[in-house]
This record gives sequence, C-alpha cells and structure tokens, in this order.
Amino acid sequence: MSSNSFRVMKFGGSSVGSPRRLRQVIELIGKHARTGPLAVVVSAQGDTTDWLLEAAELATKGDLEGSLTVVARIAHLAKTNAAALHPAQATTLAARVDQLLAPLQQLLQGISLTRECSPASKDKVLAFGELVSATLLAELLNAAGTESCFRDARLLLVTDDTFGTARVDVARTRTQLQASAAGWGTSVPVIPGFIASTVDGRTTTLGRNGSDYTAALVAQGLGATEVTVWTDVLGLHTADPDLVSDAYPVPHLTHAEGLELAAVGVRMLHPRTMIPLIESGISLRIRNTMHPDHPGTLIDAIGSRDGNRPTCIATREDLALLGIEVRKLSDQFQLGERVLSALRAARVTVWMTAQSANGQSIALVVPLPDVQRARTALEAELAQELSRREVEPLGVRQPVTLLTLVAEAMGHGVNVAGRFFSALGAVGVNVRASAQGASSRSISCVVDAADTSIAVRTTHAAFNLAHQQVNLFLLGKGTVGGQLLAQLRAQQDLLRERHGIALRVVGIADSRHTLFDASGLALEGLEEQLARVVRGEPGTQALPPLLDELRRLPVPILVDCTADGGVASLYTEAFRRGIHVVAANKKPLALPWNEREALIAEARRHHVGYHYETTVASSLPVIDTLANLVRTGDTVRLITASLSGSVGFICNELLAGVPLSTAVRSARDKGFTEPDPREDLSGADVARKALILARELGLSLSLSDVALEPFVPTLADANESPDSFLRSLRSLDAEYAQKVERCRQSGTVLRYLARIDPTRLGTDSPVIRVGIAAVEPGQPGADLRGTESFVSFTTTRHSEFPLTVRGAGAGGAVTASGVLADILRISQTLRGR
Ligand code: ASP
Ligand code: MG
Repeated sequence: MSSNSFRVMKFGGSSVGSPRRLRQVIELIGKHARTGPLAVVVSAQGDTTDWLLEAAELATKGDLEGSLTVVARIAHLAKTNAAALHPAQATTLAARVDQLLAPLQQLLQGISLTRECSPASKDKVLAFGELVSATLLAELLNAAGTESCFRDARLLLVTDDTFGTARVDVARTRTQLQASAAGWGTSVPVIPGFIASTVDGRTTTLGRNGSDYTAALVAQGLGATEVTVWTDVLGLHTADPDLVSDAYPVPHLTHAEGLELAAVGVRMLHPRTMIPLIESGISLRIRNTMHPDHPGTLIDAIGSRDGNRPTCIATREDLALLGIEVRKLSDQFQLGERVLSALRAARVTVWMTAQSANGQSIALVVPLPDVQRARTALEAELAQELSRREVEPLGVRQPVTLLTLVAEAMGHGVNVAGRFFSALGAVGVNVRASAQGASSRSISCVVDAADTSIAVRTTHAAFNLAHQQVNLFLLGKGTVGGQLLAQLRAQQDLLRERHGIALRVVGIADSRHTLFDASGLALEGLEEQLARVVRGEPGTQALPPLLDELRRLPVPILVDCTADGGVASLYTEAFRRGIHVVAANKKPLALPWNEREALIAEARRHHVGYHYETTVASSLPVIDTLANLVRTGDTVRLITASLSGSVGFICNELLAGVPLSTAVRSARDKGFTEPDPREDLSGADVARKALILARELGLSLSLSDVALEPFVPTLADANESPDSFLRSLRSLDAEYAQKVERCRQSGTVLRYLARIDPTRLGTDSPVIRVGIAAVEPGQPGADLRGTESFVSFTTTRHSEFPLTVRGAGAGGAVTASGVLADILRISQTLRGR
C-alpha cells in the first residue's frame, strides 16, 4: 500500500459524548488529518441510541408526549456539546440540531398513532443518533480549521433488508465508497457509523455497536491499511478490568486471536468487524482518546512474537446452560445438528456447545433472556424423543458465565488445559461444561455466575502474572506470629526472585486489633502499627467481612498463629469462601471428634488446603510423613514420641544431675516452657498432640480417651502463682532424682513419652498413653539432646527399624518456619508450573 492510503479512525459514543472528550477528538482528527488521507467514522453521542430506543418504545405505547421528552433530552445533549465547543455558533448549531431532529418527531408521531413500530421504522429512528453526531462533528471540525464534510453512510454502505442486523453487500459498498472518495478532495469525510441502506434507499442498521463494523467496511472499501478505534480504555485488556484489578492492556494480538476474543463475547470486538480486517489484512488499533500517547492494542496479521506474551481471559456473563441427555441412542439421532438448527431457526445465539465424545449428551450456552425461547424450540424439535423418554427433559443452569482463555501460543505449550482447570479447582470453582476448539487458540468453560470474579482473577493470575501472588491474613503476633513476620521480611525477595512467589500480608489481627489492606501491608514495623490501631473491633467478629475481601485476592490464606480455642467457626467461614488455612493452633484439632471431622470435611468440600504441620513437634515433618504412610497403604502399628521440647529439656537436665526445681526454672528462663510451666508439666499439651496424631490415623478418639500421667503431678493449689509453684517444686527434687537414679541402675533413660497403639482399639487398655518411661539404650528417644523431639512410626513396612523423625521441635523461630513451609506448600500446588 502506498503511504498515501487512507487511515480510518472511529470514535465511539463516549468519545463524543461530553465537551471535554469531544474537544480531544477534534484535536486528534486535526493532527492526523495533516499527515495524510483520513476518514472518520463516528457513533451517536453518549447514550443517544438507548434513548432513541426508549423514544420508539414510548411512541409504540401511544405515549407521544413521553417520547418527545426523550427527543428533547437527545437534542439537549447535542446542543450542550456543540455550544461548549463553539460558543460563537451556539444558536446556529442548536437550530441545526432541531432541523435534523424534526423528521424524527414526525416519525414518532406516526408510530404513536398506529401503535406500531416495524423493524424498518425502528432502524429509521435509531439512525438519528449517528446522523446528528456526524453532522455536528463535521461542522465543529470545520470551525476548528480542519476541512471536513459529513458523508451519509446511507449513500455508501449497501445492505439487504434485514432491519436491525442488516447484511452488507461488500462489493457494492466498495464501488460506492470508491466513487464517492474520488470527489472528497482534501476534506476529511465524517461518516456516521452503524447505519446503512438497502439498494432502494431504505435505512438499515448493522446491529448494536455496529460503528466498528462500519469503520472496518470503510477501511476495506477504501483500501486502507489501518483502522484505529478510539475509545475510553487503554486497549484490549488481559481481562475485564472491572473484575481483575491486575488486568493490563495487551500490546499486540493476531487477527485470529482478535476473532477468537470477538467470538466469545469480548465487548470491544465483534466477529463481523474482524472479518473485513482479516480478509484485507487491515490492522486494528484500539486507543484511548484521553491518552493519545499510549500505544493501546494493535491487532494485525502478525501478532506478538514475545514468548511471554499475555493470555487474555474473556468473560461473557448473563448466560444459561442447557443440558440435553440421550437415554437411548439410535444412529439416526444426530442430536447436535438438530439442536443447533432448531436454535438457529429460533434466532437464539449459541455461545458455546460441548458434546460428549459419543454424542450422548450436549451442553448449550445461550443468553439468559433467550432461555425460554430456546427451551420451547428444543422441546418442539425433540418432542417425539421426549414423549418416548429417549431424551431426558432439558436441564437448565442459570445464570452462568462463559470463561475463555485465548492465546495464540496455546497450541504450542503443554498442559494449558491442565493449568486452566487446576487453577479453577484450587479455588473451589466448579466447571459446569467446557470446550476446546481445534484451533487450540482458545479453551472455554462455563462456571456459575456467583463464581465469575474469583474464576477470572484466579486464571488471570495463573497465566499472566510472573509471580504467583499469595495473600496472607495473619492471626496472632506473639512468639510464632512475630517470628513469621520476621521470616517473611527476610525471605520475601528471595522467594519472589528464585521461586516466583510473591507473599503479601494483607491483614493482621490480635485479640484486640485488626489491620487490613487488600493492596498489601508494609511488613516493616507491622506489629507496632497494629498496636496503634485505635478503633480495633475486638476478637474474631470483625473478621468475616474481611474474609470476603480476602477471598477476592489470588491464593488467599488465613494463617493462625494463636492458641485461641474458639477459631473453628472462623476456619469454617474461611473454607466456605475458598480461603486456605495454615495453623500452628492445636485447639481446633483437639475439639470433639465430630467437630474436628466436620472442619476437615468443610475444607475438603471447598477444595481448599488446611495445613497444620506445626501443631505436632513444631516444624518437624510429622503429619506429612504420617499422611504419606497412610496414603501409600502402609499400616501403622505403633507410634512412640517425645512431643514436648520443654519437658525433654528438663529430662536431660535431670539426667545431668540438676534438681527438678532448678531444671524447670532454667527451662522457663530460656523461654522453652509456657509462661506457666504447669501447662507443660501437666502433660495436657502432649496429650493434645498425641490425640492429633492418633486422629490422623483415623482413630475417632477424644482427649478423655488419653491415659495421661502428668510429668509432675498437679500440686495442691491451682490458683498458686507460677513463682510460688516453682518454689514448691523443691519438695519434689529428691523424688525425681531417685527416679533418674533408678533408671540409671537398670541401664535405661528417663523420658516423658506418648505412645499410640492402634492395635489396642476395642480392648480395655488405652490406645493413647502419655507418661514417664524408662527407655533402653538404642531405642528411639534414648539419646535426645536439649529440646529435641522425636516421633517414631513402627509400621508394616518399617517394622524392623521404625521410621523416626527427630530434631529441634520447639521454639518460635522453628515453628514459624514450619508455618511458612505450609504456606509455600499451598502456593506451590496452585502454581502448577
Ligand atoms: N450507536 C450505536 C449503538 O450504541 C452504534 C455504536 O455505538 O457503535 O449501538
Ligand atoms: Mg457504542
């Protein structure tokens, strides 16, 4: 094409709907007109087309007065815009508007008299929006010094007489355009979009949003190389920006991708617009009137060569899914074909069809308002089969959303479908039907309307964000929570750069304060910031509304670092919202069996993770090891474990000859015990951990089933202060020294162990025992050091030498690292690449 070929620019209704934007449009056209031949296509101003429809409806009802009020509204908008741009000519332009709209008033009068508005009359009414808009734009351009001329599209575009959605005669249109263009000279033609006419001169329209199509046809007819659609967004986005805040404009797409997006209902593109462009190799640019320097989106034959180019996620809402199932399949059935032609005859748009490979069932996606029409048509078509009960009555699911992933490179990459569906599955979104075309350029699925935003957000993040973003809501900022924040601060950059995981804390709460910011909280000084929150709503009541915000973010995780006994219902609220839970908190797992089971079932039902590795032996991989044994079909015969770092430490001190009271005091000074050491010495904490382990084996036991021998018997007065308790411990020093000595004489070591013996289930002896034990040398636990814990599993496969996990199993830093590992485990499963 020569550099002298036409460029076509189309301006949408919003671009010419207000003085501010109209001014920008006039400036843009002026600038571009100076650099070569230019043709302009323009829509009706603002919402004029909707108003015209309203006017036609009122007139049809006989309400002429109401109808004329609407016309006045249309006139007012046009006059206000004209006056603002060209005050000196305000009166003349206003008169021009009145003159243009006079025939519309007559037309509406006729409609109101006959109470009849044929499709042909309706097209006549609708044409006024574009006629006024284009006429005024041409006048305003001339006034601004850009020579231009209104060119009536009804003399250029030839169509058949399918009023409302007329079909264009491309050859005739080309001839007319070229003949007309020969007389245009240097003035810029301003052509109304959307409207055309039949060979015998009756006005037609090209369907809603048809101005883009006009622009494509004008470009094709004039041999233009490029069409620019000027609009109010920065370009075609990776996803609907209303649904995904991270969506961004796509720089470059192929025609085929554009067509694919148009076909699945991306509002900005229409298949019929794409076709002339593809046929004639014309490129399409989408740009923002208010940001004329932004490159926008370019759609052409070549597309992007960038290996990391984005994937577009298109959504089409307000649809219904119809399902048909065949009970008895005969060869002649040809279900798919019959169903589709019945719907075509009923003028129902089918957005997606999916048929099972054997043709036995078919899913159809149709617009919500057409459901009844579609059903009636299908029931008529399948009447015989329905009456013979060869076909199941039609099932309808509504409202649903069609979600489509479009990427040219999709056919080249493996596991696109896998990633698509697993991303959806991971957030608990149910896929109701799916289809992948042979082009391999797109894959679509149907989800419930309620799941729309979460589904789009999740797939958008999975395919377009370099980093998997993970959003944390942290409960508790004590020893474990505080350490976790410190580790997040230290690891954040490394995780992002090396592992592609971007961890963000969006919320934090302690028993009195709550902080939340969906765009992420600064980790520096977060604890202090939380303490300064004035209007903190206490406790967990404030949280469910925040969970609603959390669930909208990619990979939302509630992280519980408290020892709060009442959080189970909060977990349930989280699970129901598709939020994962990572907990160092043992209490919910020690609830009565039924409640614990219900909690775990709830997580499973919503396909979210509930990870609590740190509840037993801190970060040591105990729960995971046990789960793997059970999952792979091994049978656990015995578990022995030392599950208290503090009591383990005290035992070691006793073995070294330190008196009990001194040992307990130094354990407390080192921060190994709870603030009140009785909680450790009573064995309640160990009993709880043992119960958690036993339950992992599926044993429906409760705390009361644990045969618990305290490490140190509860001393007389429970109200005694910790300090006076420590003093009174001295009275036991001699007794414990003797215990140690007795062990030594028998060649054993004093330990405080938990023992879970599933083979005792149903017998008189308890399955779970917690108490002091004399361990023989060489047995697991005999040589523990410091605060080390161990858990040893004797199983069918590990019968001779038990499988033993051992290491430091207490302390804030170690526990926090285990919590972090659980968080990363969730993010990694979801990443899937
Ligand atoms: N004015 C017409 C409509 O609103 C055509 C267009 O804007 O493209 O549908
Ligand atoms: Mg429009």
